[in-house]
This record gives sequence, structure tokens and C-alpha cells, in this order.
Amino acid sequence: MASDSIRLYGDPILRTRGEDINAFGPSLVATGDAMIKAMHEANGIGLAAPQFGLALQLFVVDVDDPAHPINLDGKNVPAKVVMPLVLANPQLTILEGPSKICSEGCLSFPGITGEVERIEKVRVSYLDTQGKPHTLEAEGLLARCLQHEYDHCQGVLFIDRMTRAHQILVTAKVKKLQRQTVANLKTSKKKTPKA
Ligand SMILES: [Zn+2]
Repeated sequence: MASDSIRLYGDPILRTRGEDINAFGPSLVATGDAMIKAMHEANGIGLAAPQFGLALQLFVVDVDDPAHPINLDGKNVPAKVVMPLVLANPQLTILEGPSKICSEGCLSFPGITGEVERIEKVRVSYLDTQGKPHTLEAEGLLARCLQHEYDHCQGVLFIDRMTRAHQILVTAKVKKLQRQTVANLKTSKKKTPKA
């Protein structure tokens, strides 16, 4: 069951490119903590700010993939030592190497999955909640998750990247979700008390 705080497909914020973060410190720590809580409550491994109602270049991830140690700031470390991570103003670099087609889901698309081809290895440069720069290199599941969340910050969604065959398979479900979300947004607007 998706959390009420997570925006669903059909909400225009999911198609909005996030603004760069320029305020760091306690307020960004609090935002990151709230996003991590929402991600965990929804049993997700990543959550981007637009999914949380904030059009910002910000996302959180919590991926423990023992098969693929990560490289953070030039050091190899087990992923679980540094997770969960809050990444602000991410810059994504696709590294040389193979890509893989895997089934993917998204917290903004409950019950909808489809195959997406992603590069196996990526580098992300980002700022932490204090504004300190870091470079993260990841493979496998974390690399997939980083590409998915980075896309969210640009207003790009996994349905855009799905294989054509799977796009066709999920079309009816996606359109139904969009209609429901638009209808719910209209109702909740009407309910807002005027003062
Ligand atoms: Zn997603």
C-alpha cells in the first residue's frame, strides 16, 4: 500500500524538472529524513523529491546489494555502511559497459511493473545535506536505482524508458491510474477550505 504522501502518476509535479538545491543544513536534513521515512514506509529502495511533492534536484536511496560494493569518494565500501543516502543536485555519468533489461517498479505507479534497459555502471556526483560534494560509483541494482531516481528529478519516468512491448502491456493500467489521480486531485482541491 503506497503512502498518502507519495504522488501518483497523473500528478503534474512528476513531469516537472526539479530546481537546484541552494540551502543546506538542518532544513535539508529534515526533508531528507522525511523522504527516507516515506520511502521505508512504502517498502521502496529509492524516492525522488517530485514524488514527495517537492520539485527539487533531490532524491534518497537505500539499496543493500552485497554482490556489488560501491565506490564512494574513491574508496570501496559495502553499500550498507553508507545507506540510506540523501543526494542533492545529482549529476549522472553513464560509464562504459553493458546494459541489462530488468523488471522495474515505481512508488508513483502502484501495481505496475515493466522491463527497462539500463546501463550496469554509473557515476553520480552530488552534494550531501551539508552541501559537501561526493562522487559515488555503483553497479547492478544501485546503478539502476540511481538512474531511475535521477530521471525523476528531470521529470522523466520509467514508463518512458520501458521496452516498447512492456509499454503496450501496461498502457491500460497507466491510463486508469492517470484518470484516478486527476479525479482525486480535483476532489481534494474542492475540499480545501477557503479563508
Ligand atoms: Zn519511481
